[in-house]
Amino acid sequence: MSQKSFATAIGCIDGRAAIPTLQFLQNYLQVDHVDFVTSAGPDKAFLQGEPAKIEEMKRQVAISLNAHHSKIITIVAHHDCAGNPISREEHFAMLSACVKEIEQWNHDVRVLSLWINEKWQAEVISDSWDANTKAA
Ligand SMILES: [Zn+2]
Repeated sequence: MSQKSFATAIGCIDGRAAIPTLQFLQNYLQVDHVDFVTSAGPDKAFLQGEPAKIEEMKRQVAISLNAHHSKIITIVAHHDCAGNPISREEHFAMLSACVKEIEQWNHDVRVLSLWINEKWQAEVISDSWDANTKAA
């Protein structure tokens, strides 16, 4: 009996972005399941939300890491986000800040950032695994 593998994603409540996120990550990371912590405008919520809200997001991510032994956290932003209506470039800057925050908070995981573009397709913006591989 093989144990199912999990990854963890922090993404938007927007249903247009959710399905491409989950399908892409399952394939890209070769995991059985993706645990999905949702907030409207997740990049902004994670960086600039009320402290109690940020703690709740982290608590839910921690459940996924601990209970499902996920070793990967992905932060996802998307085109036309009503929860955080800023430009693509501003989203990318926030994703980068989110990655730094996640890496400081949790050292033992692979950290990805993902962009769901105007065609509702997923683009990998950064992958700590790739960075480590290139540096090695
Ligand atoms: Zn959104």
